[in-house]
Amino acid sequence: MSNPSLLILPGDGIGPEVMTQVNRVIDWFGAKRGLAFDVSEDLVGGAAYDKHGTPLHDDTLAKAMEVDAVLLGAVGGPKYDALDFSVKPERGLLRLRKEMDLFANLRPAQCFDALADFSSLKRDVVAGLDIVIVRELTSGIYFGEPRGIIKEGNERVGINTQRYTESEIERVARSAFELARRRNNKVCSMEKANVMESGILWREVVQKVHDEDYPDVELSHMYADAGAMQLCRWPKQFDVIVTDNLFGDLLSDAAAMLTGSLGMLPSASLGAPMANGRPKALYEPVHGSAPDIAGQGKANPIACILSFAMALRYSFDQGDEATRIESAVEKVLADGLRTADLIGEEGVEPVSTAQMGDAILAALDASL
Ligand code: NAD
Repeated sequence: MSNPSLLILPGDGIGPEVMTQVNRVIDWFGAKRGLAFDVSEDLVGGAAYDKHGTPLHDDTLAKAMEVDAVLLGAVGGPKYDALDFSVKPERGLLRLRKEMDLFANLRPAQCFDALADFSSLKRDVVAGLDIVIVRELTSGIYFGEPRGIIKEGNERVGINTQRYTESEIERVARSAFELARRRNNKVCSMEKANVMESGILWREVVQKVHDEDYPDVELSHMYADAGAMQLCRWPKQFDVIVTDNLFGDLLSDAAAMLTGSLGMLPSASLGAPMANGRPKALYEPVHGSAPDIAGQGKANPIACILSFAMALRYSFDQGDEATRIESAVEKVLADGLRTADLIGEEGVEPVSTAQMGDAILAALDASL
């Protein structure tokens, strides 16, 4: 059997810097765990624009559609700010998500004990937190028609439409239930069924999918505003939260901040299963290209390394190996290693991107 395939798109700014460390981790799994990947690399974002005049070349897109998983660094930067909207680096990423039809966005909010003091919440509320928000990514109010700003009498009216079909709700609900089965088997679905018809339909469809195919998973429903409150009050009550595009946008950013730094947050965007049963998948850190620190060796590579751990878990069924990476990260942090973004009041000397990579590889070695 051939190795599973990975397309690496480092992108711009700190993207290539953090991806260099991920490549070392990928090589480690080939050498030490017999888990080799066929890795190819290509350009996206500003780097692709510089070479091809487009932020995503058709050949790159074709490769992305063929591989088992795509791993992306970050795109964008001030150099490209004046470009026409249609060729801005971010359009490359948006096109990739759209063409791959990645409808389920998974954003874990995981708080490593050593970083609990970085949260704006109390230590005991967040220490050991491990939840995932599944946000519907390709429909809802950001895409619904009619939309626009129209003239009505003497004033203008801004219009957006929240619209969900049953099948759109069903497929993201399935992603959430499947995910919960690999975790603590609990899903909380959030909408506003008290004031929105789309919320009523959302609740009905999620319940139906549950009753028919996932009765073993514990399902609860919550209004999204109450959910936001509960996320701040006691986030550990949740395991998997599934919600629509708009509420997911807000709730996942709020949940991310429970855990501290942007440099720690991975994400996955998943689509329908391919012929081999694996979902179409794009893994990327939540952070951007961080132009303010690009090229200085200061970037934290952990978010990107944890994104590869998500790929191991969700694309390659290697949950134990994903946990191996997460434990290595936990150990390094517990040992007191910090990139500059993770330095709080304790004022320790920061390590570089490469030194953080070295330490994680040493912790992986120690795990054998
Ligand atoms: P950003 O995430 O790039 O940076 C925000 C702040 O966090 C900066 O101070 C940065 O130094 C810091 N930071 C981010 N990641 C870090 C890391 N790994 N280690 C240490 N510090 C880190 O967001 P921004 O400044 O708003 O955007 C910069 C560029 O990135 C823009 O062009 C934007 O469009 C783009 N962007 C891309 C993505 C993506 O590729 N998915 C996401 C967000 C922003």
